[in-house]
Formats: sequence, structure tokens, C-alpha cells
Amino acid sequence: MERFFENGERVGILTAQPLDRVLDYRAPEGGCALGDFVEVPLGPRKVLGVVWDAGEGGYPLEKLRPVTRVLDARPMREEMRVFLARAGEYTLTPLSQMLRLATRTPGLGDAPATRKIYRRGEGQPDRETDARRRVLQVLDEMGGLALTLGELSEAAGVTSSVVKGLVKQGVVREEDSPRDTPFPRLDPDHGAKDLTEDQGAAAAKLVAGLREGGYGTTLLKGVTGSGKTEVYLEAVAECLRKGRQALVLLPEIALSADFLTRVEARFGARPAEWHSGVTVTERRRVWRMVGEGGAQLVVGARSALFLPFERLGLIVVDEEHDGSYKQEEGVLYNARDMAVLRASILDARVILASATPSLESWANADAGKYDRLDLTARFGAAVMPEMRAIDMRAEDLPGSRWISPRLAGAVRVRMERGEQALLFLNRRGYAPVTICRACGHQIGCQHCDARMVEHRFLKRLVCHQCGETRPVPETCPSCEVEGKLAAVGPGVERLAEEARGLFPDARIAVLSSDLYGSARALKAEIGAIAEGAADIVIGTQLVAKGHNFPLLTLVGVIDADLGLQGSDLRAAEHTFQLMRQVAGRAGRAEKPGEALMQTFQPEHPVIRAILSGDEEGFWRAEADARRQAGMPPYGRMAGVILSSTDVQEVFDLGNAMARGDGPLRALGAQVFGPAPAPIARVRGRHRVRLLVKAPKGVALQSALAEWAARFPLRGQLRRAIDIDPQSF
Ligand code: ADP
Ligand code: ZN
Repeated sequence: MERFFENGERVGILTAQPLDRVLDYRAPEGGCALGDFVEVPLGPRKVLGVVWDAGEGGYPLEKLRPVTRVLDARPMREEMRVFLARAGEYTLTPLSQMLRLATRTPGLGDAPATRKIYRRGEGQPDRETDARRRVLQVLDEMGGLALTLGELSEAAGVTSSVVKGLVKQGVVREEDSPRDTPFPRLDPDHGAKDLTEDQGAAAAKLVAGLREGGYGTTLLKGVTGSGKTEVYLEAVAECLRKGRQALVLLPEIALSADFLTRVEARFGARPAEWHSGVTVTERRRVWRMVGEGGAQLVVGARSALFLPFERLGLIVVDEEHDGSYKQEEGVLYNARDMAVLRASILDARVILASATPSLESWANADAGKYDRLDLTARFGAAVMPEMRAIDMRAEDLPGSRWISPRLAGAVRVRMERGEQALLFLNRRGYAPVTICRACGHQIGCQHCDARMVEHRFLKRLVCHQCGETRPVPETCPSCEVEGKLAAVGPGVERLAEEARGLFPDARIAVLSSDLYGSARALKAEIGAIAEGAADIVIGTQLVAKGHNFPLLTLVGVIDADLGLQGSDLRAAEHTFQLMRQVAGRAGRAEKPGEALMQTFQPEHPVIRAILSGDEEGFWRAEADARRQAGMPPYGRMAGVILSSTDVQEVFDLGNAMARGDGPLRALGAQVFGPAPAPIARVRGRHRVRLLVKAPKGVALQSALAEWAARFPLRGQLRRAIDIDPQSF
């Protein structure tokens, strides 16, 4: 039993307001317990809070305001409070902000019944009318089933005032609707597949882990199409058998209808879903049902990690290397790492699944912190595609063309066979640069340090940082010469234009997130392509993830060198992952696949590793380089992003922090910078970054907190600390 506070006793309440501390109140009439959701007065407002501790005691008890009321919601469990506190300590996020992540459900704590249900009552109508008779007739016909006011008046063909009149006289009773309905039970033994020997062995290990109980993380590595999903669904089944809940995290874009259909086929009913496309009402239902055990399995995006599970036993992080698990705004956290943290608090299991694991997970498995299971062969007749380079130095290609004759030839072969080809270019829009041929001016965003990208489909220039758009001008904004603005470089829209010229008879589909009005429209298009509605698919990163196109046998990477430019030290890892993922789209069914990568540097070690498929070799070389440089996962990194509308102010703070790095130096950590952040201006704010590199195993977070506290923020300044930044 949680600690209980009697009426009038001091309690510490955590609110989601930006206050950075727990506030003292007096317990309300009837008392309250640790974890209760409550409403408290804050200034003139009433806000949501959680009974967090026994308060600080500094302020006299008589002066404290009482808690307004205890809300009708399941209290926050101790495990969740510990998780929020530990996650907040790790990411250096104030508790109030962590609480916001866990209480984002709209309407949390509202009285459960908003709808009234109408039944026949005891009373008799004072006067019989046709309208009244019809209402009673409908209720009698319903045989005890309830209706809403709207449904009842509509069914009886009367106005709602007729029903309300009957309520007043007690002829009809108004009742609270029941709480939300639970999700249908999943049957762990429904639709199990016969696994191959490898799959069966991997599944047996995972199942044994669940039976054993206690915390444990397993890296499930297997080429695309090897059956990782089938294998981890067996672990989910075992978790359900044990009466515990399971959570499967997917990168948001991969929350495909396809996946949910597979889960339904395996367990005989649909799981609960949690992502940005779920309606508010449904989210409220999921939130409550997860807390009451009425949802056994949740399939969700990263924020599902903050749902109040009643007894979570397993978290699967599918495509665990995916960059979208890192939340880059607000609370900067990586859902993969937080999944491991939450599971360790709960004594639950974690499965990290990927064809191309992150170097972090690979290293954790290598060091024995995680178990590792490998699936090396594709299921059935499918084999991994042949990977080849097209040396662009040898291809005869005029300017403003990007599809080499060799790649075009390979596409034609697929078209003749009635198979599909994918042309991959990780650049949205028509052209990345719009330049004036008279003066050389490049059109940039007024608010960001970024070029405006021409989107011909939208007929506008778009800033990919802040989303600002404007029409493509006729004259150069700098020299005012007319008709000299030119598109430079390729984007997927331009590539589609080239492909239409080269293959006039082909049905061409362009998959880029900005070309579809909604996620639903995009999913529909993906479904149509899978059924053969296109000969050539042209796509960005979006197509690299999880989609299954059975007719696709050729992947052409337009610019394999793209990700290797720039200074990002994770560039090799990310390019390797992306290229292997994209290539994995080819040949997922019986037909063998081929991947052709256009490159100007076929000897580059990363390109060679991609082509050879020597993954262990690649990871080892990459791990050695990071170890020598003291970089993650063999050292710790943190980014400190400072921003302000005033460029001088932000550099002054950056320099002062770099000079006053005492608390960090004491740990043997180094501070680099300040330097302009990777994007130096966003929405009118100038950004500089300090990078902190520390040895492993030191108390980095507390030193960072102490360091930052020495430099209070004034004026327009803001500071965000990014533990384990994605790029450095
Ligand atoms: P991964 O998650 O590794 O990409 P999947 O689990 O999606 O692989 O499997 C690839 C395809 O092969 C899917 O269509 C899946 O249903 C099928 N498959 C995998 N293993 C089996 C099996 N043992 N029996 C039947 N179909 C299987
Ligand atoms: Zn902008």
C-alpha cells in the first residue's frame, strides 16, 4: 500500500508546469495517497498534478493551499514514478517535463461518464402523447440495451426535449455510461506458424528468457526478411501466456496496416495502437485500458513507452537503429535506451530487433551486456540481393542527369519482366539549390541557415528546417535580374521527371512524405505499389523502412556518397545502415534481387563494406575507430545547444561556458566549441553548440548540471542539453 496522507497533512505535488520543483500543498478532505492524480490551485488556475512525496517542509503548513480534489484515474504506479525520475536524471530533464510526457493524454482524470444512457424508469408519464409513446416503444424494443440522447431521439423521431421531459418525470432513467471497453482478448496460441530451425532456436531462447523472468535485453539481429517479426511475436505470445502485457515499438512511419494485420493473424484480434494518427477518444481508451490490464499488447511509436502499463513484461524495439527513436525536440531522449531503463526497473525483458543494429547495441552485445541472437538466412526462397557499384566516373552522363546508362538498362530489364524497380534518393523536393545564374545568389530561408528547396509539385520553395514556404520568384531577390534562376542538383521530383523522359511507358510512383496529404493516403499508395500498381518507385528514406514489395527486384541508389559528405562522425554507421536497409527492399519474395549503387568513390571503405556485406568486419573497424577516438559507445558525449535571437549574446555565453568548464575538467572531460550548431539558425534563433566528451563511467550528468547552473540564462537565451547526441 502506498503511503497515505490524511486530510490537512503536508504533501508534495508534482505538476507538469515549468517550475522545476515539487510544490507543497495540504492533503484534501478524504486524504490522498502517493501517486494519486490530483487537481491543485496554482495562481489563479487549477492544474493537474501527482502526489509525489511528503513535501519539503520549508513553508508553514497553515499557509499551504489544499489540494482541490483527487481525480478519478488510476494512481501513477511507483514503478512509473521511479522511471520518470531516472529518465529525467539521465536526460537532465526537469521532472515536470517528464510528467508531461506521461500525462499527455487529453482528458486524463475526467469523470469517466460523459455520455448518458437512457433506460425505462419506474414512473408513468403525466400525459400520453404520440412522441412520448414512440420513445418508450423504442426503449422497450431495445430490450435493456442503452442509447445516447441523440440515438434515442433519432430512433423515436422526436426532439431531444421530449426525452428530457420524460427524464424529469422519472419515466426514463439517465445513467452513466460504463468505462471504456477493453480490447478484445488476444489468444497466444492462435495462428502460430511453423518456424524454421534457426527461427525456432531463436524463439526458444527468447521464450526461455521470459519464463526465467527478471530483466534482460536481447539483440535480435537478422537480415531483412529472415523472420525477426515472426520470432519476436513468439516472445510476445509467451509474455501474454504469463499474463503480462507487451509493447512493440516501431518507427512511426512503419506503423503500417501490414504489421497490424500480421499481429491480428497471429493472435486472432487487433492490438491497441498508440501513435499520432490515433484519435483523442481512442487514445484515452488506450491509456485507461493499459492501466487496467484491458489492453494486453500495444503497438506504438516511441511515446508509448510512457503509457501506465499495469504489468508490462516485454518491450520489443523493432528497427532499433532507427533515428526516429531519438526525440529531437522538447525532452531529448532515445526511446531505445529508455525502453531498456524502464524494463530494468520492471524486471521485464527487452528485444532489440534490426538487420543493421546501432553500433551501441552491437557493442553492448559484444561486451556481454545484451544477449545476441542471429538469423542469417532469408525465409523461404528469398535471398539477399546482389550488391554492385556503378562507378560514376566511368559513366557517360550529361549534366542535370542522374540515372546512368547502366542503371537505366537494368530498369528496362525489370520492366520487360513485369517486375518493379526502386530508385532511391534521400532528398525531398525538386532541387536542393536554387541559384541565380546572373549573380550566383542562392535562395536561403529568411529565418534559418538553410537553403530553400524547390518543390515543383507544390509550386513553392520550402525550408526543410522551419517549414516556411514561398512562391518561386521570377526575378533574383539579390540582383533583380529576371529569368535567370536555375534549379541545381537532384531531388526525388526531378529524378521522377528524368525517369519519365527515359521510360515513357512506365507507371512511376513517387514516395516522399510531403507529396501526400495524410498518412492514410501514403499508406494507401504503399499498399497499391505492393500490389503492382507501379513499375518504377522513386523514393526517399521513407521507402527504406519495413515495407514489403514482393515484385521489387531492383534497387538503384542514385547517390551512395550522399551521406558520407559532411563532418558527422556517425556518417559511416548511418550510411551503412541506410544502404543495407534500402538494398534489403529488393528480392523479398521468390524473385532474386539486385542492388546497384551509383558512386564516385567505389574504393571508399564504407562503400566497400556495403557491397561486400561483411557486417561484422564493418562494425569491428568502426568500433575500433570510435574506441581510439574515445567516442560513444566507448566514451560519453553530450551536446549543449545554446540559442538566442541575438547572435552576440549566444556566443558570449558559449565562450563563457567553455572557459568555465571546471566541473567537467574535474572528470577528465573535454569541452569543444562553441561552434555554430549543425543548423546555425532556426526560426530566427542563432544556435551554437558545445560538445562535451567524457570518459565512460564518470558521473557526467551531475557535472553537466553543476556546470550549466553556474551560467544562468538571461534575456533571450535558451539552453538544451542533449545526452548521447545523434550527430557529433
Ligand atoms: P523480418 O522481420 O526479419 O524482416 P519477417 O518476419 O517480416 O522478417 O518475415 C519475412 C516474410 O517471411 C514475412 O512475409 C513472413 O510472414 C514470412 N515468414 C517468415 N518466417 C516464416 C515462417 N516460419 N513461416 C511462414 N512465413 C514466414
Ligand atoms: Zn526556415
